[in-house]
Amino acid sequence: MQTQILGLVTPLMVLFFAATFAVLWRVGRMKRHVLGYGIAFALSAVGFLITHLLPADAFYLFHLTQLFYTLGTTVMLVSVCERVGQRLHLGSMAVVYLISAFVLGVAVSFSNEVGSRLVIVNMGYGVMFAMGVTTLLTARRRNVIDVAIIAVMAFHAADFLVRPTLTLLFEQSIPAEVYRDSIYYSLIGLVLGVKGVTAATVLIGATIAEWTTSLRESSERDALSGLCNRGAFEESMRNLLPRAQTEGRPLSLVVVDIDHFKKVNDIWGHQAGDQAIAGIGKLIGKMVRGCDTAGRIGGEEFCIAIWNCPNNAAEQLADRIRQAFERLKHSGLSNDVRLTASFGVATARDGETYEQLFARADAALYRAKSSGRNRVENAEERHLEEPMPEPKSELIELKRAVG
Ligand code: GH3
Ligand code: MG
Ligand code: MG
Repeated sequence: MQTQILGLVTPLMVLFFAATFAVLWRVGRMKRHVLGYGIAFALSAVGFLITHLLPADAFYLFHLTQLFYTLGTTVMLVSVCERVGQRLHLGSMAVVYLISAFVLGVAVSFSNEVGSRLVIVNMGYGVMFAMGVTTLLTARRRNVIDVAIIAVMAFHAADFLVRPTLTLLFEQSIPAEVYRDSIYYSLIGLVLGVKGVTAATVLIGATIAEWTTSLRESSERDALSGLCNRGAFEESMRNLLPRAQTEGRPLSLVVVDIDHFKKVNDIWGHQAGDQAIAGIGKLIGKMVRGCDTAGRIGGEEFCIAIWNCPNNAAEQLADRIRQAFERLKHSGLSNDVRLTASFGVATARDGETYEQLFARADAALYRAKSSGRNRVENAEERHLEEPMPEPKSELIELKRAVG
C-alpha cells in the first residue's frame, strides 16, 4: 500500500507541472508551444499512472504505456522545436513508434519477461529524443536557454538509450508479475521524477524569459502601426548616436508626416485614418532593414533611424518609401484615393544630440510641407539663402474628395 501511494508522487508532480504550463500559456497569452509542454507532461503522467495502477501482468500494459509516452514525447519534441522555429519530422517519429510497437508486440507474445519489453520501448523513446535533439541543433538561434533545452533533451535521449540495459545487467530477469517489486521499477520512479523536475525547471525558465521579452516588446511597441512607440524610439536613438560616433558610422534620421491627414479623418472618419496609419507603419516596417529602427512618434508622424547609412542613401530610401506610400491602397478610403506623405532627412554630425538631429530633420520636413508636400527635403543640402518654392496646390485626389 505504501509503495502504491509513493508511486503516485511522480505522476502527480508531473501533472502539477502540466497544470503550471497550461496556466502560464493562458495567463501569459503565450504561443502554443507552451501549451504543448503542458500536454506533453500530462500525457507522460497518464502513461506512468497506467504503469502504476493497471494489473502488472496485463498483456496490454506496455502497449498502453508506450502509446501515452510516445504521444507525450512527440508533443514535447514538436513544442521545443516549434519554440525555435524548427519543424520535427513527424513521419520519422511515427516510423520509430510503429517499429518499436511491432517488436514489443512480438516480445509480449513470446515471453513473460519484462526486461526485453523495457529495452524495446525505451530504445524507441531514446531514438525519438535523439531525433528531436538533431532537429534542435539545426536551429540558427542558440542562446543560453536554447542550449539548456538541448542539454535536457539529450539527457532524456541518453537515459532512455542506456539506463534500461544498464539496470538489467544487475537485475537479469524480471517476470511480469513481480515487475513492480523490481529494482528497475523503484529506480524508474526516481529517474522520472528527476527528469520531470529538470525538464520542467528549464522549460518554466524558458517560458518566463519569453513572457518577459514579449511584455517588454509590447510595452515598447505602438499597437496601431506595429513600430516602436515614441519612448522606445527615443531611447534607441540615445543608444545609437554615441555608438555611431564611436564606431565612425553614419546615422541618418528620416522624419515622416502624412499630408492633409486632418481631412482624411474629417471625410472618411477616424477609423479610416487609423487604418491609414497602420498602412504606412506596415510599409515602413517592410522597407527598412533589421538594423534600422522605425517608430511612430506622434499621431501620423514617424521617424526612421537608418544605421550606417550616408545622407544621400537615406534620402533615396525616404524617396522610395514616399513613392510606395503614394501607390498604397487604403481599405478605409474610396478606391481611387491615395495618400501622400512628406519627408525630412538629416544625418548626425559629430557630437550632435538626438534633439538637435531631430530638430534639423523636422525643419527639413517643414520645408517639404511648405514646398508642396509629397516630397523629401534634405537638411544637409538646403542652402539658407535659397528662396522657398511656392507651396503646391492640395492633392488632386483629396481635393476631389472634399468637393
Ligand atoms: P499636413 O499635411 O500639414 O501634415 O496636414 P495634416 O492635416 O496632416 O496636419 P497635422 O499633421 O498637424 O495633423 C495631424 C492630425 O492627425 C490631427 C489629428 O486629427 C490626427 N491624428 C492624430 N493622431 C491620430 C490617430 O491616432 N488616429 C487618427 N485617425 N488620427 C489622428
Ligand atoms: Mg502631423
Ligand atoms: Mg500631417
